[in-house]
Amino acid sequence: MRGCFVNTNNFDMYYQKDTIAAISTPPGTGGIAVLRVSGASAIEMVDTIFQSKIKLIEAESHKALLGKIILPHECKENNDSFPNTDSRNNFVDEVVLTVFKSPKSYTKEDVVEIGCHGSMLLSRKIIEQLIQQGARLAEPGEFTLRAFLNGRMDLTQAEAVADIIRAKTDLSLKAAMYQFQGDLSQRVQKLRQKLIDLCSIIELELDFSDEDIEFTEKGELKRKIIVIVKEIECFIKSYRRGKILREGAKLVIIGKPNVGKSSLLNALLNEERAIVTDIPGTTRDVLEEQLNLNGAFFRVVDSAGFQNTQEIIEQEGVARTLIQIKQADIILFVFDASQKLDNLDSDLIEQVFSIKKELWNGRNAFIAALNKIDLEPKITPIDIKKKVGEYPVLEISAKYKSGLKELEESIVQLSFGESSIESDEPLITNMRQKLRLERAVDSLNLALDSLKKGLSAEFIALDIREALKCLGEIIGEVTTEDILGNIFSKFCIGK
Ligand code: GDP
Repeated sequence: MRGCFVNTNNFDMYYQKDTIAAISTPPGTGGIAVLRVSGASAIEMVDTIFQSKIKLIEAESHKALLGKIILPHECKENNDSFPNTDSRNNFVDEVVLTVFKSPKSYTKEDVVEIGCHGSMLLSRKIIEQLIQQGARLAEPGEFTLRAFLNGRMDLTQAEAVADIIRAKTDLSLKAAMYQFQGDLSQRVQKLRQKLIDLCSIIELELDFSDEDIEFTEKGELKRKIIVIVKEIECFIKSYRRGKILREGAKLVIIGKPNVGKSSLLNALLNEERAIVTDIPGTTRDVLEEQLNLNGAFFRVVDSAGFQNTQEIIEQEGVARTLIQIKQADIILFVFDASQKLDNLDSDLIEQVFSIKKELWNGRNAFIAALNKIDLEPKITPIDIKKKVGEYPVLEISAKYKSGLKELEESIVQLSFGESSIESDEPLITNMRQKLRLERAVDSLNLALDSLKKGLSAEFIALDIREALKCLGEIIGEVTTEDILGNIFSKFCIGK
């Protein structure tokens, strides 16, 4: 996909003026396909290839219209014979189209949506005709970009559009819908308002600096900034939940060969996906599967069995497992209850903890599963507890599917922490939003530092304004081509 926005110098002028067209339905065949045209000349352009009882320019907004798409030189006004003998060769398709007149449209520009038969060949033919009439093929996300630039939605709402399209579970869809309806924007706006109020008091003080008037006591100012910092930090914490809802948490199953990792993956998925054998080292590569637990989406990875191996392919498998461990949101460590713990178990636990300790940052993200409890036990949960400390230990049998419900609940609980999985609190869902909030906190901490050092109000105002800018970037009040290019190039064409 090309991200055209980044390199365009005359961004606003260029993109606001031309008329764009694209197929909005996914590639392939279907009952119908929808083509979208947006821009000042949209109605006029479609009119040149559309034949109906009325001229499109006179069509009522938001009302479906039946007609036919005909190659332009064959279009005759008010001709409702369908198709006549002269135009048989030039008849393209019978369509239903809707005109959305500016500003009451998705992009706030004139928009025409054409519903034609769901053939790629036909859709392309119609798009080609529109291009011949002067339309330009829309770039990925360009309709939504225009909606944003024309003030139809802010940047978090535009991001939510992409999340709605990609949502994989009811919960992720609900979170994206709330964001689209403006929940996140409202929360950011409230924070901004608090900062604007603070700024105004400080700036008022600056205006009267000669007269040495203090509009707010320094201690009070400090308390107010601290309250906002705490609020933003709490908001930043919602990122984990937001990310899991949006992208799914990465759950990596690890353990020695033959402990039952693949069997557990199959049991969780309720299907035979991973190869299960009693030959150690069967899973030499990593398998990734999607799992829906109580409405939350997980990407489950079955890793290669960990062992001290000389075999080159197995070494590669182990190297990949290490990468997976680094990327994991949750580690599910499997032990075989019918075998005594050995040095390899201990080495492996140590490796995981040494890799993850720093990344976890005190967060609970490890579960131990004691598998094969249907067999004569050689180890107990207490033995495992001694190795894994405060982390949960659950007894299961992947083969007989026992203990799985408790394991699933534990996975969901660990992923969402204290906040309930169903919580309706607005949350941040992507790295861009998180980084801006973190920068806002940094700036406010600088302001607190300046206050402590007794620096002039100018410095404090400067840092608060920087924090305001960061919050403004989240909703798109302050933006650059790079930011927009980065967001919208990830959209699909036609959205
Ligand atoms: P992996 O190498 O860790 O992926 O282990 P597998 O899933 O391939 O299983 C190794 C062997 O253990 C297979 O013969 C499985 O049928 C068996 N197995 C897995 N889970 C259980 C269990 O809960 N109980 C018993 N009795 N056998 C199991």
